[in-house]
Amino acid sequence: MARPMLQFTRLDQKTPAKRDADIRRRDFDEIYTGFTPEAAGDQASRCEQCGIPFCHLHCPLQNNIPDWLMLTATGRLEEAYALSQSTNAMPEICGRICPQDRLCEGSCVLEQSRHHSVTIGAVERYITDTAWEKGWVKPIRPVVEHNASVGIIGGGPAGLAAAGRLRAAGYQVTIYDRHDRMGGLLMYGIPGFKLDKAVVQRRLDHLAASGVTFRPGFAVGKDATLAELRRRHDAVLIATGVYKARALGLPGADLTGVEKALDYLITANRKGLGDSVPAFEDGRLNAAGKRVVVIGGGDTAMDCLRTAIRQGATSVTCLYRRDRANMPGSQREVDNAIAEGVTFEWLSAPEAVLGEGKVAGVRASRMSLGMPDASGRQTPRPVPGSTFTVDADLVIEALGFEPEDLPTLLGDPALTVARNGTVPVDAATQMTALEGVFAAGDIVRGASLVVWAIRDGHDAADGIRRYLENKAAGVAVARAS
Ligand SMILES: Cc1cc2nc3c(=O)[nH]c(=O)nc-3n(C[C@H](O)[C@H](O)[C@H](O)COP(=O)(O)OP(=O)(O)OC[C@H]3O[C@@H](n4cnc5c(N)ncnc54)[C@H](O)[C@@H]3O)c2cc1C
Ligand code: SF4
Repeated sequence: MARPMLQFTRLDQKTPAKRDADIRRRDFDEIYTGFTPEAAGDQASRCEQCGIPFCHLHCPLQNNIPDWLMLTATGRLEEAYALSQSTNAMPEICGRICPQDRLCEGSCVLEQSRHHSVTIGAVERYITDTAWEKGWVKPIRPVVEHNASVGIIGGGPAGLAAAGRLRAAGYQVTIYDRHDRMGGLLMYGIPGFKLDKAVVQRRLDHLAASGVTFRPGFAVGKDATLAELRRRHDAVLIATGVYKARALGLPGADLTGVEKALDYLITANRKGLGDSVPAFEDGRLNAAGKRVVVIGGGDTAMDCLRTAIRQGATSVTCLYRRDRANMPGSQREVDNAIAEGVTFEWLSAPEAVLGEGKVAGVRASRMSLGMPDASGRQTPRPVPGSTFTVDADLVIEALGFEPEDLPTLLGDPALTVARNGTVPVDAATQMTALEGVFAAGDIVRGASLVVWAIRDGHDAADGIRRYLENKAAGVAVARAS
């Protein structure tokens, strides 16, 4: 059915149906059900077709959003898919987990009016989910095959996006990952209630069918050094993500029952995938029947809180030192967590973990917010005499991640890293200071978003392609200084 555009005055914003909180808190299935064809067409037709589309400018991939919304509204779905996938290696994944309120939808002009934004992410998901169902997503078949090969360290979104783009250009691609499955944080970090693992696996199967070679269980630095990989391949891409958890550094943080967020989430994801995990089986990383306190206010903290609810914790509390408006996590995720039964103690900073040998609680004090700091966020200050205690059997530290010591990890002291441990790259080529070695994703930006990792993966693939073409022609390519 062909619909006219600019229907925002006639049609209200509607998100896909969300499963009831009382039901969804009992399982790890995705909480949104997805659009019907009617709803997707109607919601797409709300687009104002702006001359200067701010949604497009604020999407890290510069997706052609107004165009694929118009194609969806007019029933030309296969064309919408072709256009959508031309700028995005994984539209159905971004449609599910991008913080749209901070990106495309947050800058939609309708959001600035009383009409509310077009539901861009949900339509993007609908287009590509439909493309998979209809068989429009075909394995990549390059026009020309090259002998040159690229080794990618890390099978997260940055590595996967680069692999697809390099295969399309005809290069031979091998991805090495220290985990037993590919996908990086898509597989092992982000919980299934936000991103179904079958959706990730479908992308992995597609890349395998397109000729990408996967080497799971291969830790670079242990099974081969970076230097060995450079000898084995014509170019190497480092897409290793950031995994060093920031620590609480509080009295009592070494008590039994204080756990790191990613250990907890990886275990929960492995259980969902059917693995046997001793640390879950023995109760250590299982929240069932426990009073859980999560410390932190980002997306990782939200994921831990909502996982603990689903595992059957008796209470789940978030301690965060700023207020809700200053939380780094998506507001939509906070709403979901509250609906599912999480208690938020905003403006509360932990002082000590309490207990004899094992955790019994967390002592915290109330905070007030002072002047904004250099990052523009208000600085929290303790309120004198406001100490309180939250009882706990399991305390999860979700304070963010930093890069590991990469030269040591990859067994190559020649690799240059910045003071914060990230890998500097040339902005135009994504090449590091080592010739033929490129980098992308969180290891370049610090902990960021899937959509930025995909963008970096695309850019790195383009840089590698230019490097290999120029190398064949005897021309040098810029690298990080
Ligand atoms: C709990 C959690 C929830 C998140 N939720 C969201 C969300 O909802 N939306 C969003 O946009 N972003 C989210 N993010 C951020 C997002 O997941 C990351 O920004 C993104 O995955 C980074 O991609 P990457 O490819 O750079 O790294 P990763 O996804 O981390 O992948 C890196 C891969 O490299 C591998 N590796 C590392 N070292 C080696 C080595 N020496 N040898 C071989 N392999 C190695 C790792 O095993 C891993 O598979 C979340 C992050 C976390 C932790
Ligand atoms: S990739 Fe993310 S930011 Fe870009 S249009 Fe899709 S949901 Fe929005």
